[in-house]
Amino acid sequence: MEPQPHDMISCPYNMAHQVEHYRMHIHLQKCRKQHPNSGKVTCPFDATHVVNEVELDYHVTTCPKRHMLDTQLYVMDDDQRPVVPVVSQSARDTSDDWEADCHTSYKPDYSKKGAHVIQKIKGATPSERRKARMENIRHYRPLE
Ligand SMILES: [Zn+2]
Ligand SMILES: [Zn+2]
Repeated sequence: MEPQPHDMISCPYNMAHQVEHYRMHIHLQKCRKQHPNSGKVTCPFDATHVVNEVELDYHVTTCPKRHMLDTQLYVMDDDQRPVVPVVSQSARDTSDDWEADCHTSYKPDYSKKGAHVIQKIKGATPSERRKARMENIRHYRPLE
């Protein structure tokens, strides 16, 4: 959850300090001076952000680079989503509905489906083509 500007959050230096989120950076400037020996850590989103260790949690909620990283992660995740070819669904479905559909509207597009499903048969009768197609489908095991 994104902290809202007027959410009260605890000062990382002293839990008794409850400060509105949008004012915390001002508060921290004061509190930080009372803790000069705090350990330093590097922001996970940008190595040029060096913050006091106790402030890291607060920093990552406000870090401007965080949103850039979120976007990149989202894009990467999108790219890695498995692409399920539509043809593998219909190839495994040998129900009567699919058969009926074959007669009327089956128009194989070889350029898009690749070489792994259907062998192109020239000069065969429709029933021979269908028989050959069913042979291909029987041997088609996309997950093996
Ligand atoms: Zn404080
Ligand atoms: Zn940062």
